[in-house]
Amino acid sequence: MRFCSLGSGSSGNATLIEAGDGTRTTRVLVDCGFSLRELARRLARRGVSVESIDAVFVTHEHGDHVGCALALARRHGTALWISEGTWAALGDVDAPASLRHARDGMAIAVGALELRPFTVPHDASEPLQLTCSDGWRRLGLLTDLGHADDEIARRLAGCDALLLECNHDRGMLAQGPYPAFLKRRVGGDHGHLANEQAADLLRRVAHRALRHVVAAHLSRQNNRPEIAAAALATALGAPASEVVVADAAQGCDWLDLG
Ligand SMILES: [Zn+2]
Ligand SMILES: [Zn+2]
Repeated sequence: MRFCSLGSGSSGNATLIEAGDGTRTTRVLVDCGFSLRELARRLARRGVSVESIDAVFVTHEHGDHVGCALALARRHGTALWISEGTWAALGDVDAPASLRHARDGMAIAVGALELRPFTVPHDASEPLQLTCSDGWRRLGLLTDLGHADDEIARRLAGCDALLLECNHDRGMLAQGPYPAFLKRRVGGDHGHLANEQAADLLRRVAHRALRHVVAAHLSRQNNRPEIAAAALATALGAPASEVVVADAAQGCDWLDLG
């Protein structure tokens, strides 16, 4: 099992997860916040074709996450997993035949992978984040949430790799260019996770077998990669070079879970 980010941040998010069971490879895309052409370009960079994606899981209705999900499902018949609330928030659109509704607590089987969505506090209709497992290793994905409670820590406990939102540095947000209402929204309980909140969560769920930690969904205005990496590294008690930062243009390269 391995995963990579195709890009992360308010301009577009997509995480690709791949697992093989010996006979065939399963590929799941979590969010696809790009145009179909841009997604294809970013997938090609990782040696993957759009046609080979088995399923897309959309975490919530914000444009940097939905992107071309519907076009992908319509054009290629790709299974589209999305919560009922997220689907309703997309408005009056025709449902593709491959639409499936996801909800908190469900176990979703896609080939060699199993997805386990859970609810997060974010200013969206029914936002879900998830863990993904091939039955052997487990990856936790967590972006777009205002705070991480005990239940979220419980869901992420024991993961072999984590991709965690490090949206902003609180000081940079407070002093930065955003208008006051936006500062309140981003920094609020249903906004985005600050570096120190991500570090607090990591401190609670880190364990010796944790292989990869990725800082994701960094704000261009209110954060810097080295600050986010340092916050997570401190929580791990490891050098900052141990933390991978997924950026808007390149995401991050494949990370192997073995
Ligand atoms: Zn987002
Ligand atoms: Zn969002």
